[in-house]
Amino acid sequence: MIKEKDGIHLELGEKVVADSRKAVGDINIVSHAHFDHLHRGETEVVCSAETAGIGSVRSGKEIEFSEDHNSVELLPSGHIIGSRAALIEDDKSILYTGDVSTRDRFYLEGFEPVNADILVVETTYGVPAYSFPSQEEIIDEITGWVQDNEKPLLLFGYSLGKAQKIQHHVQEATDRPLLAHGSVIEMNHAVEKSTDLEFRAKPYEGNKDLFKEEGILVAPPGSRKAEWVKRLENKKEVLTAGFSGWAVNNSMGYSRYDRAFPLSDHCGFDELVELVEKVDPERVYTHHGFDEAFASYLRKELGIHARALKKNQATLEEF
Ligand SMILES: [Zn+2]
Repeated sequence: MIKEKDGIHLELGEKVVADSRKAVGDINIVSHAHFDHLHRGETEVVCSAETAGIGSVRSGKEIEFSEDHNSVELLPSGHIIGSRAALIEDDKSILYTGDVSTRDRFYLEGFEPVNADILVVETTYGVPAYSFPSQEEIIDEITGWVQDNEKPLLLFGYSLGKAQKIQHHVQEATDRPLLAHGSVIEMNHAVEKSTDLEFRAKPYEGNKDLFKEEGILVAPPGSRKAEWVKRLENKKEVLTAGFSGWAVNNSMGYSRYDRAFPLSDHCGFDELVELVEKVDPERVYTHHGFDEAFASYLRKELGIHARALKKNQATLEEF
């Protein structure tokens, strides 16, 4: 039986729970260190060392973990540093993707799909409108925009994951002063501890003057509510940019930036279809985003048994 409750619950020989805020399973998997996937308990979890390291910084307490379990194999899922999919061996093999991207980006290698009988896949961008340009095209656009606009630039991306990719790219594209919001600096340090990556951004606090001189500031989208960020955004010489898959058609508020780039940490629609084809499962369960639409596409176009996981329902027997 499989359920979406708080995270994904699999009633197998042992109870396997993935990405739940409460680690209530016999086996508890944490796919990555984004807050919606990080559990708050004391129980030992199955996750990567990077997720445990970054997660400990975020939650303020040491995360007890192991990187495998006799029936669970973790596979790099290409979403953010340390993110993992899980291949669970029971009577049938079950692949849980967590958040996933199959494209190589910056310092991350894309997820390599493996065969499984049952696939549980996130479908954030599960409709054809969200197929993304090639990585080269996206990077060329970002580079061109940064180099053509010698003004203070305010770039918005989530503090863990997107913000590091934006900085990595800006560091390659220009020598201009690079600054970051406090929460981004904190995540930079956590990432630097678990990897050999280095970020040259200085904290905005204490270095404000550098921003005025064609500086580039990276901040999380949530910081737009803060007065000091609003004041910066409202200065007429400052240009803003957002980075997300939603930028493909300026949905989810991405029209409110001066520029928006479709730089995503998730699979686009066509990449999701390719992932499913490579896993070649008997059954697919979708969750997040366009879950119903994508399940319907798989049934109608590819003849695959597929359905969306809805909160507190769905069992294997219901097929
Ligand atoms: Zn995530």
